[in-house]
Amino acid sequence: MIELKNVNKVYKSNGNQVHACNNINLIIDKNDIYGIMGLSGAGKSTLLRTINLLEAPTNGSILVNGKDITKFNGKELREYRKKTGMIFQHFNLLESRDVRGNIAFALEVAGWKDKKAINERVNELLQLVELEDKGSFYPIQLSGGQKQRVSIARAVIKNPEILLFDDCLSAVDTETEEQILNNLLKISKDKTTIIVSHRVSSAKNADKIIILDEGKIIQEGSHNQLINQEGYYAALY
Ligand code: ADP
Repeated sequence: MIELKNVNKVYKSNGNQVHACNNINLIIDKNDIYGIMGLSGAGKSTLLRTINLLEAPTNGSILVNGKDITKFNGKELREYRKKTGMIFQHFNLLESRDVRGNIAFALEVAGWKDKKAINERVNELLQLVELEDKGSFYPIQLSGGQKQRVSIARAVIKNPEILLFDDCLSAVDTETEEQILNNLLKISKDKTTIIVSHRVSSAKNADKIIILDEGKIIQEGSHNQLINQEGYYAALY
């Protein structure tokens, strides 16, 4: 579904060049879960942001369903963005609105107007992220994991085909991470999912995991393959 061909991203800062993505080639199958791991600064976020086109690659092509998204602009780009949902490590909930209000607000921003339809969709989303009993809670009354689940609900309002998680579980404890991951496995059944993480626990259920180092893919395989290979993943495991 997603194919990156010779993707490079070079940042220029203070006269220096940083090769954040260095000739990345990879294929992600439809409805698979893909893990991206590596040390801090390895280029994980940059790679994710290029797939969402929050950053244009310096060169190379990114094919999604056979179309090069780097050539998209205007309407095509807006349509593509609707197909992707990104969940960030840092996110803001509206403190003045309860959980229902936060999700409803995201729907309103996305153009939903009918109150009844918004209400029904909010119910579905609360169920999906298992927060049915927290609808009337305000962000200040929620744990970090519960807040993260509200942000996941907001990211999937448009039922995106592609879900991108940018190290969004690093701030929660391992028990909460496990809960959110179980939730996520349910949500991502019919979606292509990419999870950036620096924890094995977040990536181990992925169909395939890549390890980045200085913008390059240095290892690629399933959890079982990687724990049996000498390298970054096995050491971390
Ligand atoms: P990771 O997500 O693995 O921690 P990043 O993708 O954030 O890595 O960063 C990869 C490299 O690109 C780092 O050396 C970082 O300093 C650099 N970088 C990231 N974003 C920018 C930017 N906007 N301008 C300049 N350099 C950047």
